[in-house]
Amino acid sequence: MRKTARVVVIGGGIAGCSTIYHLTQEGWTDVMLLERDELTSGTTWHSAAQVTNFGMNQTMVGLKTHSINLYKELADDPEYPINYHHGDGGIRLANTHAQMDGYRHFASMARGMDVHFEVIDAEECARRHPLLATDNLVGGLWDPLDGDIDPAQLCQALARRARKAGAEVHRNTPVTALKQLKDDSWIVSTPKGDVHAEIVVNACGYRVNEVGAMMGVHHPVASMEHQYFLTEEIPAIKEAGHRMPLIRCPISDYYSRQEKNGLLVGFYEQDCKTWGMDGIDPNFVNALCPDDLDRVTDVLEGAIARMPALAEVGIHTVVNGPITYTIDGAPLVGPIPGKRNAFCIIGLRAGLGEGGGHGWLLAQQIVHGEACYDTWCLDPRRFTGHGNVELTALKAIEDYQNEFRFHFPHEHRPAGRPIKTTPLTPVLAAEGAEFGVVNGWERMDYIKPDPEFTETHTFRFNETFDVVAKEVAAVQTGVGLTEVNGFNRFELTGADVHSFLDRMICGRVPKKEGRVGLAYLLNHHGMVKSEATIANLPDGRVWYGSAAASEWHDMDWLQAHLREDEDVQIRSLTNEHTILVLAGPKARDVLSAVSRGDWSSAAFPWLSVRQAFIGIAPAVVMAVSFSGELAYEIHVPNNQLYGAYLALRHAGKAHGLTLFGSRAVESMRLEKGYLHWKAELQTEFDPFETGLERFVKLDKGDFIGREALVARQANGPNRQRVTLLLDSQTAPAHAGASVMVGDQVVGTVTSGDWGHRVGQNIAMAFVTPVFAKGHDDLIVDVIGQRVPASVADPCLYDPENARVKA
Ligand SMILES: Cc1cc2nc3c(=O)[nH]c(=O)nc-3n(C[C@H](O)[C@H](O)[C@H](O)COP(=O)(O)OP(=O)(O)OC[C@H]3O[C@@H](n4cnc5c(N)ncnc54)[C@H](O)[C@@H]3O)c2cc1C
Repeated sequence: MRKTARVVVIGGGIAGCSTIYHLTQEGWTDVMLLERDELTSGTTWHSAAQVTNFGMNQTMVGLKTHSINLYKELADDPEYPINYHHGDGGIRLANTHAQMDGYRHFASMARGMDVHFEVIDAEECARRHPLLATDNLVGGLWDPLDGDIDPAQLCQALARRARKAGAEVHRNTPVTALKQLKDDSWIVSTPKGDVHAEIVVNACGYRVNEVGAMMGVHHPVASMEHQYFLTEEIPAIKEAGHRMPLIRCPISDYYSRQEKNGLLVGFYEQDCKTWGMDGIDPNFVNALCPDDLDRVTDVLEGAIARMPALAEVGIHTVVNGPITYTIDGAPLVGPIPGKRNAFCIIGLRAGLGEGGGHGWLLAQQIVHGEACYDTWCLDPRRFTGHGNVELTALKAIEDYQNEFRFHFPHEHRPAGRPIKTTPLTPVLAAEGAEFGVVNGWERMDYIKPDPEFTETHTFRFNETFDVVAKEVAAVQTGVGLTEVNGFNRFELTGADVHSFLDRMICGRVPKKEGRVGLAYLLNHHGMVKSEATIANLPDGRVWYGSAAASEWHDMDWLQAHLREDEDVQIRSLTNEHTILVLAGPKARDVLSAVSRGDWSSAAFPWLSVRQAFIGIAPAVVMAVSFSGELAYEIHVPNNQLYGAYLALRHAGKAHGLTLFGSRAVESMRLEKGYLHWKAELQTEFDPFETGLERFVKLDKGDFIGREALVARQANGPNRQRVTLLLDSQTAPAHAGASVMVGDQVVGTVTSGDWGHRVGQNIAMAFVTPVFAKGHDDLIVDVIGQRVPASVADPCLYDPENARVKA
């Protein structure tokens, strides 16, 4: 065993094998995989190993396509062929029209990744899968490439190719300790000796937190017991003359695929069980949990009703093994929060299907700093500290119970809530607030018109349409108040703050005390990394504000680029302050009534910041607006938030102040053409493609990403962001929907909603540049409806900003 390696990957399941293989593909061959037992002896060996192309967003679809292409290539390798049933096809069933809408949306989204799903009715489901009964079935989503693979052979094939490329793979070599040195490299200890590694990767499956503990980290990953059984031969399968498609059923929570001439049927029972919460037996190797089919009786009944042939056939094997979940159902693939030179590929609940793609994207991140797709949906830094062991377990249970039930737009499931609250949460709840969850924070969506009001979960416009319209109108004509909690906020102090920010930001950094500016950070490839509001407080401090959830992401990025000789201190105030937003033409009147000082537009114009008191609560007030109306962001320490709120409510009475929520904000920001981080602001697009020319100053000197951006300019944009108006009042265009000309996909929607002030169905999208100026035949596929669309001005409401500056 070598004593040094550039990368040590810990764990030899699909996650580790895929990572080491892809590192060698990226040209890093001085890499090593250490496995405590035999390869695949964790969860991988007993996986049902279904390989689908279905995903909830384009990154997931893209990485699954990579898996499928790679597995096909491995299966066809004459030197080491592996068993892969590629293209059996699979159906996700539906018993409601709302689910069918969802499938139509996912089909529209996948088409943009060159993946072609089909939405089929119940009869067609039964035609393609002869064992299916159609009672209570509306239809389903057909994935033509669905299949299954031999998991052990797959891992051996990947390890074999990695070895051939120069990687070392060591079995029976448990990692027992990890120590980080001053230069951020690692000493990886094993019974066979130490390895000095530049970078380590945790790919330890259900033992993720044993290895996490070695580096002082808790990962929000929990394991659930999960069972499937294999049946005896079913004559109808033999007689069918073709392999049975796979089935995934959100109605009764099971899946099935063909195994020999019988079925493999797996269950996601409601009466489910976490596993390994209080430690895992070190001898649990190549092992299973005890069978417990009693637990799955309810689900099994549903499976039998759908496939009556199951009632006639015996069970010959039961498999019950641990499967990992995170707190939002998606794996954690990327940098380990708060650590340097440490990555993870963990929390895989569909690791066989996805593993090829995850290893691919992780290797790119390790080698190039970024992957070809925006990987935020997988980024381990997306939970900022609330993923403790108890919440993770509750969310794992909830996710397991809803395995095939996708989230509808605005659906926030209840387990573990409330997670993060402010002193205002119960106050707003008493006012009738409906909350959504943003990075764990309970964020007000809207005020319910009556206590019994409930919202239908749907991809179409629903009952909230009029509620939001009313809130928008109140802000437009009078004044509204909302709470924005969890907004990320760093305080930067020290002599070098502005020169440091100058290096990080691609445009001019506002330096004048009392002024605020919007700024963009690029990565080394010249792509959009983050958006920040830079506020120069009159007392010399600088506040850096960015999207909720970006706290750990942005902190990592800033800290990683801080030079040793630079006098800059960065302190997070994210959890200590909350923003109250006062918006509308009467906002100034309300503010003037609660806060001493001259708040006129001459004394405190747009893009100003000052410290003030709201009643007796100390606050930082900024004249900035996300709504397009005159507005103030009032940042208040949480311990005086309630006092500030009461003062504003009291002063607001005379001006008809009402509450509004984030749905109204979303509608208004689309009308203004303002962007959202990780919707429009993605690492897949540079600032020119994103329409941020005025925030880029190539002539200001060097900044991170400048060189790459200049090089990209030589080739012109690949995509261009546009605002679209849709000719439909049925449904908004959801993120991922395809923009088409004829049958050709020419772009993808990033956000969409109704603009209540302009009375239009608005979407933002990235399109092939030739279509950015407009095209007569643009169509957006919205839940399967081909909706005519036209390119509009990027700012649809008050383009002169007269209202904001009033
Ligand atoms: C019953 C069942 C059915 C499933 N069906 C499907 C399916 O149909 N499709 C699908 O895509 N997924 C399925 N899954 C999920 C899938 O199997 C997992 O997501 C996947 O196997 C996880 O792979 P992994 O590499 O992350 O973890 P593991 O396979 O558990 O690998 C982790 C490895 O790390 C090693 N390790 C741990 N600690 C150390 C240490 N200290 N030092 C060195 N090595 C260490 C372990 O020995 C192990 O080999 C199923 C899971 C179950 C339980």
